[in-house]
Amino acid sequence: MLISEYERKIVRKICDEIIKHDRFFLTTHQVPDGDGLGCELAFSIVLRKLGKQAIIVNEMLPSAIYSFLPGYSDILPIEKYPEIKLIPDAAIIFDCSNKERIGRPLSFIPESVAIINIDHHQGNTQFGHINWVCENCSSVGEMCFFILEELNCVDKEVAECLYVAILTDTGSFRHHFDTRTIRIAERLLSTGINPESIADHIYNSYPVSTLKLLGHALVSLQYDMDLHIAWTVLDEQMLMETGAFEQDAEIIVDMLRSIGNVDFVFLVKERKNEIKFSLRSKKGFNVRLIAEKFGGGGHDGAAGFSMTGITLTDAIEKFLRYLKKHQSKRQVENG
Ligand code: 5GP
Ligand code: MN
Repeated sequence: MLISEYERKIVRKICDEIIKHDRFFLTTHQVPDGDGLGCELAFSIVLRKLGKQAIIVNEMLPSAIYSFLPGYSDILPIEKYPEIKLIPDAAIIFDCSNKERIGRPLSFIPESVAIINIDHHQGNTQFGHINWVCENCSSVGEMCFFILEELNCVDKEVAECLYVAILTDTGSFRHHFDTRTIRIAERLLSTGINPESIADHIYNSYPVSTLKLLGHALVSLQYDMDLHIAWTVLDEQMLMETGAFEQDAEIIVDMLRSIGNVDFVFLVKERKNEIKFSLRSKKGFNVRLIAEKFGGGGHDGAAGFSMTGITLTDAIEKFLRYLKKHQSKRQVENG
């Protein structure tokens, strides 16, 4: 049995809610990743097959490495949304621990709509009218599988989107997954999707600009062997010089993670109004606890936070000062 009694009930409740509504607004967190995007696309395919209308609106367009997925080209840039005359009666929010993580699309969700919140982050604020938060789930893709299967709608196209959600959020089945994840992946593969071709799209299709950006990031690599950390920066100049997009920067933080003998790694991104930290743990180290100290959150193995009103250099200094000050406590917290 893949699903618990509680899960069966909440899945049924979500399906009943979906059946009741006609016009859906689908969104995920800022800088959409494979998990949020895969769920949005899977739902939009299914909702349309059920004769409903669905629109995907994100803070920014997802990385072009996902452009092979069915429905990707229908995703509207946020600027175009006001031209669309769709007044939603329901919104499904994927992979967001709180409403603010949605960014600008939040302002397009009318007060009156039914909000369905599907997430796998610890500390989710339960901001929906219906909330399903599964902290032990590898990905929201894993959760959406149960909903879409209950609706009897997991065909090859839907399976491809859900497989990408699970593949990317587990770092290609390297972290935060269990036997249930593998069983779901097996069910998705049994629809006839091609895992090798999908992996080729996801991991071998970067634009040259992304690799150039990675080059800049690696040149700026720093480490502190006393603190057992390594980090690098992505400033606006690097993005401008290479012509790369922040959406394509996931490869950089993954590359940092491949460094041995550190507790965790982090990437610091300079944005217009904030400095964004992306933390990735090593050896089971808990980075969520650190991110929460700075008002952020995430998973034990991957977390983030931002600082505002501060320069890139000062933000890094502030963070390093904190780490130095709390080094012994940090070791205790992480056992
Ligand atoms: P990333 O580093 O890829 O932006 O995020 C890693 C994980 O941390 C994701 O699960 C993401 O949702 C979460 N995360 C990143 N930044 C924030 C933040 O500012 N607040 C919260 N609550 N979660 C964050
Ligand atoms: Mn996720």
